[in-house]
Amino acid sequence: MADFASAPQSIGVAGGGLMGRLMAWQLLRRGHRVTVFDAGPASGEQSAAFVAAAMLAPYSEAVTSGAELFAMSRNALAGWKALLQQLGENSAHPVQLNDAGSVVVAHELDRANLSHFSRKLRAAVGDDGNVQSLDRAGIEALEPELPHSFRQGLWLAGEGCLDNRALLVALHDAIVAGGGVWQPNCPVQSVVAGEIQTAQAIEKFDWVLDCRGLGSKPDWPEVRGVRGEILWVEAPEVKLSRPVRLMHPRYHLYITPKPGNLYVVGATEIESESQTPVTVRSELELLSALYSVHSGFAEAHIVNSFARCRPALTNNLPQIRVRDGLIQINGLYRHGYLLAPTVLESALGAFEGQQELAFVTELASFACRAGSHG
Ligand SMILES: Cc1cc2nc3c(=O)[nH]c(=O)nc-3n(C[C@H](O)[C@H](O)[C@H](O)COP(=O)(O)OP(=O)(O)OC[C@H]3O[C@@H](n4cnc5c(N)ncnc54)[C@H](O)[C@@H]3O)c2cc1C
Repeated sequence: MADFASAPQSIGVAGGGLMGRLMAWQLLRRGHRVTVFDAGPASGEQSAAFVAAAMLAPYSEAVTSGAELFAMSRNALAGWKALLQQLGENSAHPVQLNDAGSVVVAHELDRANLSHFSRKLRAAVGDDGNVQSLDRAGIEALEPELPHSFRQGLWLAGEGCLDNRALLVALHDAIVAGGGVWQPNCPVQSVVAGEIQTAQAIEKFDWVLDCRGLGSKPDWPEVRGVRGEILWVEAPEVKLSRPVRLMHPRYHLYITPKPGNLYVVGATEIESESQTPVTVRSELELLSALYSVHSGFAEAHIVNSFARCRPALTNNLPQIRVRDGLIQINGLYRHGYLLAPTVLESALGAFEGQQELAFVTELASFACRAGSHG
């Protein structure tokens, strides 16, 4: 195995979405030479990372994804704070991280949904003080603009969200400033150990990282896409200061505040790899649920709607595969931001030789082992 601490390597990264950017940035910081190839523009518009709400929601996600995911993600906020501090070291525009927790509410008719969510949540995560029941006064203290008809809710401290579009720009800028080469609008045709093939050339590297998300499917057939539709609305008349989730019998809505009076409203989850525009039905459902949370959204402007695929594996957990000359990172599904600090640390650890070279690991078991050591 190469000694990465003392020997700078040439590294080609296929896919400059969330994981590709984070890996490229960190590898540059460690003195390696890095080239990133992305099928889309430098803004990251073609990635799932660009449209994501970028909520860091270990508690909410534990309800559907269970204790394993919770073990991997409970320290997401602390992990991101450390990463953003590094990223902001030389930047005039630090990326905003909102760590004010999140609020979960339900209309009175749907109280059973909230109770069910609350029971499942406590069963999955136990009681670590970050899950607190709210009455009307409690809701009002946190989010005074939510209507009086919401009489019960939950406050999930230890959750947050980040400004992901600013993050993608900051990572791109840090990569270029650090001497990395960025190849935008450059689809990769094939990835093998030590080699990236594009329409123009076959380029050789010491190591290749495959971070193409759903684009990796030709080389990793188990990867599947899970369609998510999401809306961006600009609502100067609404002041919500943290993500708000609405429990509903048919769909779960979230509203995530972003800088500039922008709210990201989502998201559908459909077993489909179609990336065609958002359907009328999805838009109607998202918007009517949105309006039911805060009437101020009536005058909001819909500034964008997106449909993208979350890259997932069969068990909906991430996986890092390492062979000599090739590292594949995939399966971040609906948890890319939530899991990124853990996946990044594990992938860098694998890269730097803390793991055997020829191994296939499910991050869940890796993270649980790491967690059991405190
Ligand atoms: C609607 C929606 C909402 C979400 N909300 C959240 C959330 O609130 N919290 C959370 O933690 N996660 C969320 N996610 C999930 C998160 O966005 C993903 O898990 C994460 O982006 C996966 O990172 P990735 O780097 O593996 O893939 P991506 O971010 O999709 O990046 C893949 C990159 O590879 C490039 N690429 C693809 N094919 C090729 C090719 N052939 N050649 C070159 N480049 C290629 C793409 O252009 C892209 O830039 C959401 C996702 C969606 C779709």
